[in-house]
Amino acid sequence: MSLTKLFHPSTVAVIGASRQEGHIGREVLLNLMDSFCGKVFPINPKAERLEGLKCYGSITEVPESVDLAVIAVPAKIVLDVLQECNEANVSNVIVISGGFKEIGEKGRELEQQIGDFARDKGINMIGPNAIGVISTGSNLNATFAQEMALPGNISFMSQSGAFCTAVLDWANEVGLGFNHFVSLGNKAVLDEVDLIREWDSDCNTDVILGYLEGIDRGRKFIETAKNVTQTTPIVLVKSGKTKGGASAAASHTGTIAGSDNAYGAAFEQSGVIRVDTIEELFDFGTILAQQSPPEDRKVGIVTNAGGPGVIAADALETYDLELAQFSDETLDKLGEFLSPLATRKNPIDITGKADEDDYRQALNSVIEDGEVSSVLALSAPAAIFSYPKIAEILSNARDTIDKPIVGALMGGKLSAEAQKSLKEAGVPNYFDPGRAVRALSALVKYGDIRKRKYEPIKSLIPEDEVIEKKVSELVGKNGKMIGLEGLSILEDLGIPVVESQIARSSSEAKQIAQKYSSPVVLKIESPDIIHKSDIGGVKVGVEPDQISYEYDRMVDRVRRNFEDPDMEIEGVRIQEMVDGKEIIVGVNRDPQFGPLVMFGLGGIYVELLKDVSFKVAPVSELEAKEMVESIDAYPVLKGVRGGSRVDIDGIVEIIQRVSQFAVRLPQICELDLNPIIVNAEGARVVDLRMRLSR
Ligand code: ADP
Ligand code: MG
Repeated sequence: MSLTKLFHPSTVAVIGASRQEGHIGREVLLNLMDSFCGKVFPINPKAERLEGLKCYGSITEVPESVDLAVIAVPAKIVLDVLQECNEANVSNVIVISGGFKEIGEKGRELEQQIGDFARDKGINMIGPNAIGVISTGSNLNATFAQEMALPGNISFMSQSGAFCTAVLDWANEVGLGFNHFVSLGNKAVLDEVDLIREWDSDCNTDVILGYLEGIDRGRKFIETAKNVTQTTPIVLVKSGKTKGGASAAASHTGTIAGSDNAYGAAFEQSGVIRVDTIEELFDFGTILAQQSPPEDRKVGIVTNAGGPGVIAADALETYDLELAQFSDETLDKLGEFLSPLATRKNPIDITGKADEDDYRQALNSVIEDGEVSSVLALSAPAAIFSYPKIAEILSNARDTIDKPIVGALMGGKLSAEAQKSLKEAGVPNYFDPGRAVRALSALVKYGDIRKRKYEPIKSLIPEDEVIEKKVSELVGKNGKMIGLEGLSILEDLGIPVVESQIARSSSEAKQIAQKYSSPVVLKIESPDIIHKSDIGGVKVGVEPDQISYEYDRMVDRVRRNFEDPDMEIEGVRIQEMVDGKEIIVGVNRDPQFGPLVMFGLGGIYVELLKDVSFKVAPVSELEAKEMVESIDAYPVLKGVRGGSRVDIDGIVEIIQRVSQFAVRLPQICELDLNPIIVNAEGARVVDLRMRLSR
């Protein structure tokens, strides 16, 4: 399905063109006539001519083949119009008409119908409920927006139409250009995945930006974006961040994992740079469209004022960049011309008494230093200092050396002229040094993404059907939460599990006790109980000679605490007691992205502290490692202050196995291995909770 003709048509029809002022069909027609050099055919059964063009009663009457139809007719006749488009062999349409999913159930049905029809006939459809499409390379303004975009190498998509018109107006004001500009509307057929793929192969798009409210084809998105981001940066705003996890969830993982964790994980794993604000979206987009990523994180700073230098240095830390250490050669060079009051080390402060020539020399020494990978040029207005000259110095530097340069020539009126020439030279300039550093950090981030190696998934879990069989047997116990009876599945998966045995009477418990010489853990074994310790169903540190006594006490206690007289108690599990740190590995199934794996410190504080990391399953060994390393408490696992390092490789392996299990068995809705107790010798599961669906 090629989208070439959608963005580069030779002929365009406007179905629902009108002469009525304020009518969308009229605005589209006028926009096209203003910009587009190809042929435009208005379609309206009630008009002979419109805006001087011959008007046709139906698309089927147009004597030439039509590459693109823009549809602006009432929702209820869109399907008929699409059928005519199909008869006329039109394979690209933009449905501007509203009155679909956004108005409720009835609209949703209509949308389903038009979407199904278009897909079935292989029609590329944008919308419905869209503003339209702009393609500057073809001078195509197939929208009802008031303006055409400026040309540029950024392609932009937005799920919000209002956002499209606002961005367009603003971008024209600041001189930001676009290659393609797409209002996605309700995404009945074409969505972000299709556009990302199209733009990846489009040599006029260097950066992809987007505002999204949701992604329906989650896994396809990851697969596509992973490839695309190796060559074309993608920066997205995904709104609707605050929603917590599903309230009905029974596991810790299910409670913590909201859809936003899924988006966060999916974006991160596929190399998409996620931003929170529109300002960041365009700051990042602009710099990525103009400059290439630096070698590494080392930044050299030149300034004529102390304060901005300090702010910038602080910001480097915030955005995970580093101050470069200048070479001796550079320090010597700087010493030759800088006044004794100036600071030679990074950030270089040439002071307010310096002139443009000092600035140029300082800047060049920094740029030429092999330790410096990118340069931040700051300054405040000073008496003997001309901003236009500084801008010229920066522009020259940008032309001659292949290292990123970002400016913060601070000021208003005084910096306006400089601002303009910097823009032409492709040097982003900001009032705020912190914002300049942030923009630079986007380049560095993208550099990391491009260097990233995606490891193939090594299958660690056995291929045989035993696991499937055991899971389907458990699914039979419909609606029930699976507890420790699921341990044997974990064993089949090759996940280390602490040794345990069920006693069905206190005398049986007495017999089992003979095996042990050190304290054990007793746990109530009942299909009716989910949280064992809540009702006194877990006792740790039981001496072997107390096991039979504690057995009876536990059964009594649990019966008393659990108010249902029909509760079923199968017995008490006697479990080896292990010493170590408690961690959790869990799974939650996201409707868009599929199984998400969670890792964190376990035990009772997991929901409170939420010090957890997420990834979309399956995860590679490298990704599992990243999950472990990215929690705040990682130093606790690595061993701090004399504490010993726990078996991190063991955890990494469990995460991989769990992730593969969740992908292979779609019945798994939620899974908690909580806690897994890990020490220097290894990691072993002591408790489990699993919710299955049919
Ligand atoms: P539940 O989550 O149903 O209350 P768990 O089996 O997770 O029951 O046990 C609760 C707590 O008891 C664990 O978080 C852990 O602190 C401790 N515990 C459970 N089993 C063991 C064990 N085998 N060794 C050491 N501590 C354990
Ligand atoms: Mg537990």
